[in-house]
Amino acid sequence: MGSIAERLAEVRERACLSYRRAVGQPGELHIVCVTKTQPLPRILEAIDAGVTEIGENYLQEAIRKDVFALRESREVTVRYIGRLQSNKYNTILRVFDAVDSAGPEFLERLHGTQDRGAQRARTFLLEVNAGEESQKGGLTMPQIREFAAADAPWLHEVSGLMAVVPLQATMQMRAAIYQSVSILFHELASDLGSSHVTLLSMGTSDDFELAIEHGSNMIRVGTGIFGPRSPSQV
Ligand SMILES: *Cc1c(COP(=O)(O)O)cnc(C)c1O
Repeated sequence: MGSIAERLAEVRERACLSYRRAVGQPGELHIVCVTKTQPLPRILEAIDAGVTEIGENYLQEAIRKDVFALRESREVTVRYIGRLQSNKYNTILRVFDAVDSAGPEFLERLHGTQDRGAQRARTFLLEVNAGEESQKGGLTMPQIREFAAADAPWLHEVSGLMAVVPLQATMQMRAAIYQSVSILFHELASDLGSSHVTLLSMGTSDDFELAIEHGSNMIRVGTGIFGPRSPSQV
């Protein structure tokens, strides 16, 4: 299957090719390396192979592995992409650089915070439950449009959207979903200011090329870089 460096190079090549084809001009494509269940030495291997952004799903796991200490010796951004619980908001804001899975409650609390001196996180994406799955976090697209129509003040905290799609969705379904999220993203960018709303996180190992074709400029790749996650590591 190749080494982490080889797989990363392949992901990057495929992603950049799709991005150039989709965008047709230079721009910034973010490749977030999803490091849940991966031990620190493997994460370091990915960083040394060129990863500059990692994504973690669980606060406890990220603390236990001490991924944050990587920033002392490496140029790396640590993004939170997991479920948010209100009793962990403050810790997450203090240790992560970005929160991509933000919801209204989190953003409202953030918006009401005057003194942000203790916060490290500066970039926030609103999570979109694009397949309207009841068990998943994130707002549906109609819900986001309602908040935008009501001019919810906390929306001004967001720099973009992170879409999650149903695991079992076919490529055809995903294409339709990504297209819809992309339209919503452009609506928000024009409502809130296109210089603030710039990041569209869509696409994982299975479908990042498809997501990029439909406007993604941030992909989240775990297995595509590390190989399959073993369930015992979770
Ligand atoms: C685990 C995870 C990913 C990565 O999925 P892969 O299939 O391993 O690429 C991406 N986004 C989120 C939110 C995840 O939880």
